[in-house]
Amino acid sequence: FDPLSAILQFGEKMGQIPRVLSWRNMLVLSLAINFSLILKILKGDRERVDSWDRTAYVSIWPVVSTTASGSSSLSSASCNYSKIEEDDDRTINLKFGDPMVYERYWQENGEVTTMVIPGWQSLSYFSDENNLCWFLEPELGKEIVRVHKVVGNAVTQDRFIVVGTGSTQLYQAALYALSPHDDSGPINVVSTAPYYSSYPLITDCLKSGLYRWGGDAKTYKEDGPYIELVTSPNNPDGFLRESVVNSSKGILIHDLAYYWPQYTPITSAADHDVMLFTASKSTGHAGMRIGWALVKDRETARKMIEYIELNTIGVSKDSQLRVAKVLKVVSDSCGNETAKSFFDHSYDAMYERWKLLKQAAKDTKRFSVPDFASQRCNFFGRVFEPQPAFAWFKCGEEIVDCEKFLREEKKILTKSGKHFGDELSYVRISMLDRDTNFNIFLHRISSSSNSTL
Ligand code: PMP
Repeated sequence: FDPLSAILQFGEKMGQIPRVLSWRNMLVLSLAINFSLILKILKGDRERVDSWDRTAYVSIWPVVSTTASGSSSLSSASCNYSKIEEDDDRTINLKFGDPMVYERYWQENGEVTTMVIPGWQSLSYFSDENNLCWFLEPELGKEIVRVHKVVGNAVTQDRFIVVGTGSTQLYQAALYALSPHDDSGPINVVSTAPYYSSYPLITDCLKSGLYRWGGDAKTYKEDGPYIELVTSPNNPDGFLRESVVNSSKGILIHDLAYYWPQYTPITSAADHDVMLFTASKSTGHAGMRIGWALVKDRETARKMIEYIELNTIGVSKDSQLRVAKVLKVVSDSCGNETAKSFFDHSYDAMYERWKLLKQAAKDTKRFSVPDFASQRCNFFGRVFEPQPAFAWFKCGEEIVDCEKFLREEKKILTKSGKHFGDELSYVRISMLDRDTNFNIFLHRISSSSNSTL
């Protein structure tokens, strides 16, 4: 129905009728009718989407309530994963550590993190010409120091901060900075298996003359200098780690992407030569592509900065400003006595998921997940077990290839143990997906239909 053309046709037919309304009046009237119709249609669609989302949401996960102050709190209702209503047999992808579990918190806190960046900003390449890291936005540097102080997970005093396009770029910058640049040939880069699957791929992708992938640190026996990557808590298995190669010639890079209190007890402020962190896993803002390195040695920091200059001439200022804002909100939330902090929320979400997964493993006895020792967390001031971002999931003995089994029998995509330097009986499963996907996953691995899992 098009009110405008109907009115025009009517007008043509009734052309000779005395003019109560002028054509201009009619045009305004018809525009108003059209506009209200469009609004109604849009509103209807929106309501349908909202109500669908909400039904799915409420039926499977604790209800989110919004307090008068605008901050959110999870209700204490526990998740009942047997009540899945919307498992429509679709494929669930838990291959990647996409941090969508944080979406709900940031939806609830959207307003305080919203930024307007006018067109005249971010013209210059430079952020702070007085800083060794000239492309680091001072506001981001300040908030990085503050959040580490609040959480107590890393020493920042007398450290150089190097910002990168994700910690993926910083990893490469660190390899460039720590490799000998003489003609001694590529230095070996090792890490204890199971190691983060991207390390070997990134290390060897350009077949660098400076460094090369040297494999599992546990079995590494060669003489001479080498670089050891220590990921703690580890991706994929979630254990806290220390270096294993027993040699003074080792140069260490500590990847502390998951050393945050929602994943593991913070037992001390990490104090290593090169420490890598990322917004992707701390606040969940993987799409902003911001990581930072805390570096003790000036020359190492200088070379890392040189690499980033050569590679991307700095790091997006817009992203840095957004991460600065997010970190500020996180730190502020920790000092707020009346509302739950970001880490309280995230801890609760991870706690609930791990509780359900461990219970499912116990009930079905068809798969296992690692057992973790409890430790006291200085940040929360209580003792708890690690609740990592990934589950290092082992299928029962009768299943040789766990990834294939889950893909073919359960329509769940995971990453095979072989990519992490381990066996096919293991897979890595993301614990960071949205509630709906996590619950469908749990439902499928708990149900006995068509499986011997
Ligand atoms: N290190 C580890 C251990 C990771 O798990 C990841 C993300 N999967 C990264 C680094 C990369 O993080 P970013 O998104 O900052 O590049």
